Amino acid sequence: MSLIVQKYGGSSVGNVTRIKRVAKKIVAKKREGNQLVVVVSAMADTTDDLVSLAEEITQRPSERELDMLLATGEQVSVSLLAMAIHQEGEKAVSFTGPQVGIITDPFHTKARILDINTDRIREVLRRGNIVIVAGFQGKTEGGEITTFGRGGSDLTAVALAKALQAKVCEIYTDVDGIYTADPRICPSARKLDQVSYDEILELASMGAQVMHSRSIEVGKKFNVPIVVKHSVRNGKGTLITKENRKMEEVVVSGVALNQNEAKVTIFKVPDKPGVAAKIFKRIADAHINVDMIIQNKTETKSTDISFTVAKSALHRSLDVVRKAAREVGAQHVSCDQNIAKVSVVGVGMRSHSGVASKMFGALAKNRINIEMISTSEIKISCVVGGNRGKAAVRAIHKEFGLGK
Ligand code: ADP
Ligand code: ASP
Ligand code: MG
Repeated sequence: MSLIVQKYGGSSVGNVTRIKRVAKKIVAKKREGNQLVVVVSAMADTTDDLVSLAEEITQRPSERELDMLLATGEQVSVSLLAMAIHQEGEKAVSFTGPQVGIITDPFHTKARILDINTDRIREVLRRGNIVIVAGFQGKTEGGEITTFGRGGSDLTAVALAKALQAKVCEIYTDVDGIYTADPRICPSARKLDQVSYDEILELASMGAQVMHSRSIEVGKKFNVPIVVKHSVRNGKGTLITKENRKMEEVVVSGVALNQNEAKVTIFKVPDKPGVAAKIFKRIADAHINVDMIIQNKTETKSTDISFTVAKSALHRSLDVVRKAAREVGAQHVSCDQNIAKVSVVGVGMRSHSGVASKMFGALAKNRINIEMISTSEIKISCVVGGNRGKAAVRAIHKEFGLGK
């Protein structure tokens, strides 16, 4: 008997009809002789709606209370799915993340999993049940409810697959697998049969919403086989696996777009040692993740520093940065929410040159201005104007011949 972990995303359980359809699929898999642990996201736009409710009250909600609120979304979908499975004549029990012993660090809204005590899941499985687990949540050692960041149900699934030593972790979603670009933005995008952990990690970190980046970190570290498939249509999907030689021959495997970041600029920062360290220490102490950073020397005695953060962290970042700017004697702070970051990713970049010039050339041809640039071994990212992001993805995708 094999143990399989499956995960169904929000749109796959978006209404009762879909929940019933997913229940049938799960039951069929169980009747093939498998043990099943199923992770579920909140129904459709539930989490967005909960966030909006909080925003109607305050732009700076307590992160503890936000976690209390957001964790409720998944409790609705897991219980309904368990009921739908009962209707199909199988035994199923639903649990919240805290109930099944998913223990995290105390950082609300971006908690990391520290440990999973699988005793309860194993016991319930042994009694012939399908186990349904609420995605994206756990609890601290002290019993506080935490969530893992938007899209974090993927992390619950991969971490459970590792902890339970499952044969495979199947991620069911609303696309047929992982594509060379978001098919909603780039209609010519091509489905990949295989992708390496490193490539999907970069694509996900750079905004390809299809997988949560930390789920891939866990998958890579423990070599968990992950398959991404459509929740209704049959097909082989995309296998996420270790890098192999065939993959290296492909220079660029995908293009990603992130429209969820904002740029913060600190003007006229005194140009002397220790100033940047002081500013970014304040940001780090507030547990805010900074993405790209650039420094521009404008005149001899000062520089401008720009960096990007998640839009959801912008208000908190501005509070911290304005204070730090005053401390170091910088002139003023501004922000720009109208930006987009477009990235090309491919393990073949390690051994091939010319990717940057080709990418910049594609943007130039389409008269798209580059505001910031950053690179890693297998990735190049450019920040462009917010209303040019999608056009940039299509232009770059075409330039690298990634389409069908
Ligand atoms: P779920 O609710 O199942 O977790 P998500 O909305 O989080 O689904 O992720 C699936 C979506 O990710 C797709 O509908 C697609 O628009 C988007 N996406 C972005 N980049 C890619 C890509 N490279 N390949 C496939 N889908 C992508
Ligand atoms: N429901 C959460 C979200 O919308 C987690 C997830 O769907 O993975 O972000
Ligand atoms: Mg998702």
